[in-house]
Amino acid sequence: MIAYLEHFVHGNDTESPPNDDVSSLQSSFHFAPNSIASKDFGGMKSSTPLAVLRPYTTADVVKAVKAAATTTNLTVAARGNGHSINGQAMAEKGLVLDMRATAEEPFQLLYVDGVPHVDVSGGALWEEVLKRCVSNFKLVPRSWTDYLGLTVGGTLSNAGVSGQTFRYGPQTANVTELEVVTGKGDSFVCNENQNSELFFASLGGLGQFGVITRARIVLQQAPDMVRWMRVIYSEFEDYTKDAEWLVTLPEGDGFDYVEGFVVANNDDPCNGWPTIPMGSNQIFNPVCLPSSAGPVLYCLELALHYRKTARSSEVNTKVDRLLGGLRFVEGIKFEDDVKYMDFLLRVKRVEEDAKAKGIWDAPHPWLNMFVSKTDIADFDREVFKKILKHGVGGPILVYPLLRSKWDDRHSVVVPDSNIFYIIALLRFIPPPPKGPPTDKLVAQNNAIIQLCYNKGFDFKLYLPHYTSQENWMRHFGDKWTRFVQRKQNFDPLAILAPGQKIFSRNQ
Ligand code: FAD
Repeated sequence: MIAYLEHFVHGNDTESPPNDDVSSLQSSFHFAPNSIASKDFGGMKSSTPLAVLRPYTTADVVKAVKAAATTTNLTVAARGNGHSINGQAMAEKGLVLDMRATAEEPFQLLYVDGVPHVDVSGGALWEEVLKRCVSNFKLVPRSWTDYLGLTVGGTLSNAGVSGQTFRYGPQTANVTELEVVTGKGDSFVCNENQNSELFFASLGGLGQFGVITRARIVLQQAPDMVRWMRVIYSEFEDYTKDAEWLVTLPEGDGFDYVEGFVVANNDDPCNGWPTIPMGSNQIFNPVCLPSSAGPVLYCLELALHYRKTARSSEVNTKVDRLLGGLRFVEGIKFEDDVKYMDFLLRVKRVEEDAKAKGIWDAPHPWLNMFVSKTDIADFDREVFKKILKHGVGGPILVYPLLRSKWDDRHSVVVPDSNIFYIIALLRFIPPPPKGPPTDKLVAQNNAIIQLCYNKGFDFKLYLPHYTSQENWMRHFGDKWTRFVQRKQNFDPLAILAPGQKIFSRNQ
């Protein structure tokens, strides 16, 4: 491995003088097998890195980036948990940093202006952060993703969205400080006041400006229990009105979690009514559905936190008051009381199930996007009710978020309207030939994106994937100039995150 690295770095780069950084890289790193970084969760892209390095400290990351900077061709990709879909954490013939190696340290509680925060590594999984914060401090982060087998650095490079985002903003809005190693190989502590441009650039920055080695995350008291509920709508207009009302209620007055999804209005076990109940003891009874119901139904998913000591009458009163204001189909309601930790780890159970069925490691041609409230009814008419009326073999999420909770100084871009919806087509299907060809599903995603362009919808891809700079310019719109400027400032040689295919490595 070391000989191979030596050959590549110098053999392909006769202009660059041998240097100490590269030799120190070879002698001081642990290497992981290339195979761990040649694939990702999407299962549609593959690449062969030059080497996969295990950095244990920020100094190791500095060393790797500096070594790459002394060559004319090497790139560096931080790899979180490789849960990207389109090769975003890959580096063809470059260095991949397995950030999971940094997962253990730091892990430290501190109070800033009386507010609890925790410092964690960029390579920690959110699941690890949850478990350690609860067991050590009885405190937890406020904003989550649905699935917690993702790294802190990976989601902060995108946004990190779930049912708490309407209240606290994405995960990127719940971080007050970062430690970042730029593409020049310099390490900085950055926050709103100190190296602020690097701080804002890195949040939602698609890994373009630096490798996040530490993040300071805002905490709150850990709730004990969650009342978890699902109610059904046959009319999209009722669904969106209610969901939008719920996400605009002041904190303390509403639910703590608001999400929702679309299902086929039939008994298909993967796409229809059976996907709605939360447990095997619950059954969906379609008798209550109005005869006017169309090809799809909408399920609002809600949760209320409470303490173990709360009286159940208090919880019932608050839930009844809130549900009483909603227009869901009467007679169809599912609810359960679960431990907070079990609620947050709910997708872990889906993972176990999917692994057993062989659909976790199959290709995942997923599509994630944000669509403005102004276009969501048309989107429903054209996409949910027509193109996707039979489902996608997995959840189709659709729920509202508030733009006011997103910080415009961050790199991530969202639609212009005050309320926009996250749409996620989370396809879980058996690999071909048992399932449909992956290309066909990718083509369906592209047809949906094209429809949005043709109709002039105000939308943005979330976890974007483009291959031409023209498309990236369109994606960032009037923030493109700022994005390019930030790249020139923090990674002028375009060493970092080549798998995003935004910039090419400069010499
Ligand atoms: P990777 O895929 O390894 O990396 C993603 C990008 O970030 C790459 O460009 C990489 O180079 C860069 N990167 C990684 N680590 C760092 C770092 N430390 N510093 C700088 N750049 C870095 N997203 C949501 O918002 N909400 C959800 O509920 C949600 N659920 C998901 C469920 C599943 C099953 C899957 C597969 C994905 C889900 N996602 C969700 C998407 C997820 O947030 C992104 O795919 C995220 O990038 C994955 O994190 P990762 O740690 O695997 O990152």
